[in-house]
Amino acid sequence: MLEAKAQVGQCSVCFHLSADPVCDICRATNRDLQTLCVVADSRDVIAIEKTREYRGRYHVLGGLISPMDGIGPEQLNIGPLVHRVSKEGTQEVIMAISPSIEGDTTTLYVGQLLKPFTRVTRIAFGLPMGGDLEYADEVTLARALEGRRDLE
Ligand SMILES: [Zn+2]
Repeated sequence: MLEAKAQVGQCSVCFHLSADPVCDICRATNRDLQTLCVVADSRDVIAIEKTREYRGRYHVLGGLISPMDGIGPEQLNIGPLVHRVSKEGTQEVIMAISPSIEGDTTTLYVGQLLKPFTRVTRIAFGLPMGGDLEYADEVTLARALEGRRDLE
């Protein structure tokens, strides 16, 4: 798994794993271009795609803000996200990050940066704290997406 991951590159737009410079999702012409779903990891993109409920595009942060581990906002793909949202005229950004101390810190931090440009929502998790998005079943994830609320 690790070896396969090292060989595959990243999409230059959304940072999802991709063999091509721009991934299939970003290239698709039949997707909603005004909605962006922000996730921590490429595995979360795959999990949400499985629900077939979401038709927008994604932005992969590449991790979560975690001062204890020395991971600050500058280590993540947050700058490119703000640039994208301000440039693309995104109508809604959905923060789809599992609830945890790091997850909530990241959601609030990114949300504050994006609010001047767009509506920011977060998915409604029926998951326990620390429950991983990638392990949620499709029905739970689809419900979480549907029940999203505006970020305070
Ligand atoms: Zn992409």
